Amino acid sequence: MSSMFDLMDEWGPEKIVAVSDAKTGMKGVLVIDNTSRGIGKGGTRMQPGVTVEEIARLARVMTWKWAGVDLFYGGAKAGIQADPRSPYKEEILRSFVRRLSNEVPREYVFGLDMGLTENDAAVIIDELGDRGSAVGTPYELGGVPYDQLGITGYGVAEVVDQAASRQGLQGSRVAVQGFGAVGHATASRLHDLGYQVVAISTAQGAIADPNGLDIPELLRRRSESGDALVADFPELKIDPGDELFVDAEIAVPAALQDVIDAAAAERMGARLVVEGANLPTSPEAQQVLLRRGVTVVPDFVANAGGVVSAAFAMDARYSPFRAATESIFATVSEKLRSNTVQVLEAAEDRSVTSHEAARSLAQERVRAAMLLRGKPLPH
Ligand code: NAD
Repeated sequence: MSSMFDLMDEWGPEKIVAVSDAKTGMKGVLVIDNTSRGIGKGGTRMQPGVTVEEIARLARVMTWKWAGVDLFYGGAKAGIQADPRSPYKEEILRSFVRRLSNEVPREYVFGLDMGLTENDAAVIIDELGDRGSAVGTPYELGGVPYDQLGITGYGVAEVVDQAASRQGLQGSRVAVQGFGAVGHATASRLHDLGYQVVAISTAQGAIADPNGLDIPELLRRRSESGDALVADFPELKIDPGDELFVDAEIAVPAALQDVIDAAAAERMGARLVVEGANLPTSPEAQQVLLRRGVTVVPDFVANAGGVVSAAFAMDARYSPFRAATESIFATVSEKLRSNTVQVLEAAEDRSVTSHEAARSLAQERVRAAMLLRGKPLPH
């Protein structure tokens, strides 16, 4: 592993806290990247292979994401190196969050990412108290269960629709990689908006149908079998990874990071790529897609629905009034659609990738906050 100091630049991280517990075997890290615009807030990921570098990169994405949607929180992320299917998940999680009681909730608020669910958010507030230690808690505990409500995926689909309408691609074919919290909700909303979802995948395989998959049926199967739903359709099976290369005008990577490198970007047939997952395309791939005239909506613009609802949820923790679900969906749609237009227009005006355009908009906001706090300004 490279030194943790290599991860630090003029923006952050301000703090990296690594913790472990020999009793449960828990190893985890919290990275607080930049809190110039507010306290750190970003999801917690539980995965056997999670690394400090990965969490630091994701924390930086959160810095740009909060600034990109112009909400006053800072970038942070946490990671636990463990299998989320472990029978000791609760003990591991409790042990992790207990060791961060200095930072939570004064400097960091827990959220959900891969491997954690609303039930885990409930465990976190049970362990650390429910005055703002976690968002994404179940409805029964007064929370806004954004994974259960599928808010991030809903937002990704709204972004697809907004970007597609600029290219005359409304109602066209879409391939979605991943059918988890984000992927399934994206596919569901796209189906409702009249798009034809022609491919989906999970960690257990990929399926495709050029005539359009039966999304309501897949959603039913998912609620019964989870990721194993793909095994129910052997006749539709394609090679894992090929879902992003089927004939479709739109591709939505909504599973893992680093799935589209330069070679993949050359090969893809899609005219529009909307990043549901964090960091799915490499910088080289983004350049290739720009050269090929493929529109890309960056992760921190497209999957910001969760953060918009998390901001609602954090306010709701201090209020006995429940935020109306419809108003959350309406706000997510409005904010994400207008951000999409702003970023795509800025990218076109400056002939840069949409990642560069979105990052400069966000960086201007973070820089302004750092200036006011008397911090040295990053270049
Ligand atoms: P999840 O664990 O609910 O789902 C992940 C999905 O990806 C599952 O269907 C899994 O089977 C699938 N998958 C895993 N490996 C795969 C592979 N090799 N090929 C195809 N599919 C594979 O996670 P999630 O919350 O949906 O997160 C997905 C991505 O979206 C992550 O990059 C995450 O950081 C990002 N994200 C999530 C949220 C949120 O609100 N949940 C918000 C913003 C960004």
